[in-house]
Amino acid sequence: MAVNELNATPNALRLHIAIFGRRNSGKSSLINAISNQNTALVSDVAGTTTDPVYRPIEIHPLGPCVLIDTAGFDDEGELGLMRVEKTREVISKTDLAVMAVVAGQSDFSKELEWLAFLDEKKIPVLLTINKLDTVMTLPLGSGVHEAKPNERSAINLPQELEGLERVYISARENTNIEKFRQKLIELAPSEYELDSITAHLINKGDHVLLVAPQDIQAPKGRLILPQIQTIRDLLDHKAIVSIVTTDKLEESLMLYKNPPKLIITDSQVFKYVKDRCPKETLLTSFSVLMARYKGDIDEFVRGAAAIDSLSEKSSILILEACSHNPLDGDIGRIKIPAMLKKRFGENIKFTWKSGNDIPADVSSFDLVIHCGGCMLNRKNVISRIQRCKDQKIPVTNYGVFIAHMSGILSDVVY
Ligand code: SF4
Repeated sequence: MAVNELNATPNALRLHIAIFGRRNSGKSSLINAISNQNTALVSDVAGTTTDPVYRPIEIHPLGPCVLIDTAGFDDEGELGLMRVEKTREVISKTDLAVMAVVAGQSDFSKELEWLAFLDEKKIPVLLTINKLDTVMTLPLGSGVHEAKPNERSAINLPQELEGLERVYISARENTNIEKFRQKLIELAPSEYELDSITAHLINKGDHVLLVAPQDIQAPKGRLILPQIQTIRDLLDHKAIVSIVTTDKLEESLMLYKNPPKLIITDSQVFKYVKDRCPKETLLTSFSVLMARYKGDIDEFVRGAAAIDSLSEKSSILILEACSHNPLDGDIGRIKIPAMLKKRFGENIKFTWKSGNDIPADVSSFDLVIHCGGCMLNRKNVISRIQRCKDQKIPVTNYGVFIAHMSGILSDVVY
């Protein structure tokens, strides 16, 4: 891994700006123009972009963003329709959408259809009218052009698009690119991530003890993303942070004059840590904190209550947001099924889905259990929860599940 990759903000923490439009509507040119790079492949041949492409970028003052270049939503044929489906999946993680149309275009039926999808998810949209240079002569060199009323009417937008925030652009002539950037800043939702992972639980100067077992599942030579994010968040809030492996918990607690304000543990050793947690110390887990930061913790807690109504005939869907080779003792593949089988019998049924492969229809399941979702942005986790809510299927996550099964959920703070 290169040093700059190590320093980079993970995509999960970036504002996701997705560019939607037909093939050859200038989506890739827009990405190149705003990133000042020629990284997105631009071609006059329609359909150059296949799978969505994620491009990390800093947009001041928004901070770290990721631009998502999508395949045209008018793509055709068997492969084309698969690409359209991939583009559709991007909606679930989009914080801000750019709808690219071409100046002089006359058919907007597809755009209206996709705007309805975005509207349904309440995603703010910036309409960009691209290739302005093909319908009018632009002033050379200034980089700015205010489309005049008569020029606007030449562009001929349908009434349904009139209400959208919009900007007129020529990526080729570099016209109005700065305006485009400013409009993105204006429209970006301010609350795409919560401000902090831990600030609601601690004060400046509080001592926080972290328990992070470095077992076979821990990646070699490093901590996992939720642990790193939590440590950084605690340091930002001027907490005093200690970290130990599970076997050093008791020894470390004896070293301190006063008990820690908060213990944050790996969920897998929740019960062990709870049994040794001083009574004045608050207890939570990385996964529970992430469930609040990136999802809907109240929904996960409500979902956990459904565990008690399961039976041997129940069917469970386990969602892992990224694929990995399951190791011995893997939480989603081994530990959670073992806990449920022990309580409800061997015949309980499990289905696993990884990555973006989440079924549209989850209604045949009795419970959905989601992983910590550390590689997903908040929007994506919320939209997965919403799918379960819409179909009235309870959903919880690994950390909340384990706390409930260990009988300690009511003692956990979040
Ligand atoms: S499966 Fe989920 S919790 Fe595990 S690494 Fe992937 S996104 Fe993170």
